[in-house]
Amino acid sequence: MTASLKDLPQIEALLSQPSIADLSQAYSRAETAAALRDVIGGLRAALQSATPPAALPDFAGGDFAALVALQITAARAPSLRSVINATGVIIHTNLGRARMAPQAIAAMTGAGADATNLELDLETGKRGSRHAHVEGLIRDLTGAEAAVVVNNCAAAVLLSLMATASGRSVVASRGELVEIGGSFRLPDVIAQSGARLREVGTTNKTRVADYADAIDDTTAVLLKSHTSNFRIVGFTAAPDRQALARLASERRVILMEDLGSGVLVDLTRFGLSDEPVVSDVLKAGVDLVMFSGDKLLGGPQAGIIAGRREIVAELKAHPLMRALRIDKLSLAALEATLRLYRAPHDPLQEVPVLRMLSEPLEDVAGRAAALADRLAMVGVRDIKTEATSARVGGGTSPEQDLPSRALSIRLDGMSAEALAAALRRGPPPVIGRIAQDRVLLDMRSVQDDELPLIAEAFAAILRR
Ligand SMILES: *Cc1c(COP(=O)(O)O)cnc(C)c1O
Repeated sequence: MTASLKDLPQIEALLSQPSIADLSQAYSRAETAAALRDVIGGLRAALQSATPPAALPDFAGGDFAALVALQITAARAPSLRSVINATGVIIHTNLGRARMAPQAIAAMTGAGADATNLELDLETGKRGSRHAHVEGLIRDLTGAEAAVVVNNCAAAVLLSLMATASGRSVVASRGELVEIGGSFRLPDVIAQSGARLREVGTTNKTRVADYADAIDDTTAVLLKSHTSNFRIVGFTAAPDRQALARLASERRVILMEDLGSGVLVDLTRFGLSDEPVVSDVLKAGVDLVMFSGDKLLGGPQAGIIAGRREIVAELKAHPLMRALRIDKLSLAALEATLRLYRAPHDPLQEVPVLRMLSEPLEDVAGRAAALADRLAMVGVRDIKTEATSARVGGGTSPEQDLPSRALSIRLDGMSAEALAAALRRGPPPVIGRIAQDRVLLDMRSVQDDELPLIAEAFAAILRR
């Protein structure tokens, strides 16, 4: 005997039942009705499946009401949630990029809860500029004459080109016309800015002479771009910044560089030799640079523009500035993050992104061992420790592997895909990767305080 579709009750009838009416009281009628539709819909699908259930639940019973209550609370849970990044990709765009320092979080809390002097000069009582809160810090940290901050780096590039090259031409190397994350393609951004792209050189080689030959009286900008997420290796050439800067200044055009990640401290000793330090780029003579706030800088989403005073002044005055400006929460977090780059702070210890990428391998291995202990305690039996390569991510240094350790895990009677899916559902959601039919949890992108949560997630899966 199997149950049949006609045994499914009407939603209206269920709503007037005492145990369900109590839920309508406790939550709301609309949420209860929506939850009932979900639960009954699930039962209908099960009845129509190849393996229909033999019996339906007792719709008047407490178990059914509890199931509906669970559905209501699930629907009330926030959509945007904390997850555990065990992918080994430190700056993971799909997982929200940089995790911020406690100082940055505190600054956001304050700026969100309280009225602030966002655009008020407390000395004069007159209208102030939101840019003033970070401009001095950025100048100090980069050596730039001036700086301004917008919503993200894509906006920074767009605004910079609009303000300087609209209706004129922009010279860029064929080897640097990058696409970042699918929706940001440099040629398209140049077109959107109203400038005309003049491509020079070839995919693997571009010389100063190529730029020089392309400059004419319509040229406004020479644009260099960090090829963040790919490398052309082998027989390659790109002019050094000094040579391009000399050319730009001789021919009275602006040399701009989209740095993408943009680092404020030298990270070559951690293998990140492809990430130029912003102050070095400016010292080499680049007039204007743009970089992200939430990549290697380790702060909030933001686009920082730094460089020559008269160009930055034009950007600040541009009509589009208002549409692209940074919001107060991000501004508060950015200021707090930038302060961590100044004494007495040590950014390598205090900015989470930099701490994770500079963490000694022994410490990462220690975290793997600590997690293995905790997982064994909750009953996970098949655990191996593997040497892995973590990544910076965020389109930064694609070739650079950071030595890391991962736990490689299998649960009896569960495929790696099923385990990864169960971990992703949480709580809390734990995001790993699959290799050789096992789930890998990389410990370089995880923090110590997350280990008990990962163990709890496994315990919940094993209880099912
Ligand atoms: C990441 C990146 C961008 C876009 O930065 P967002 O802050 O995500 O807008 C632009 N250019 C380069 C070279 C990048 O690496």
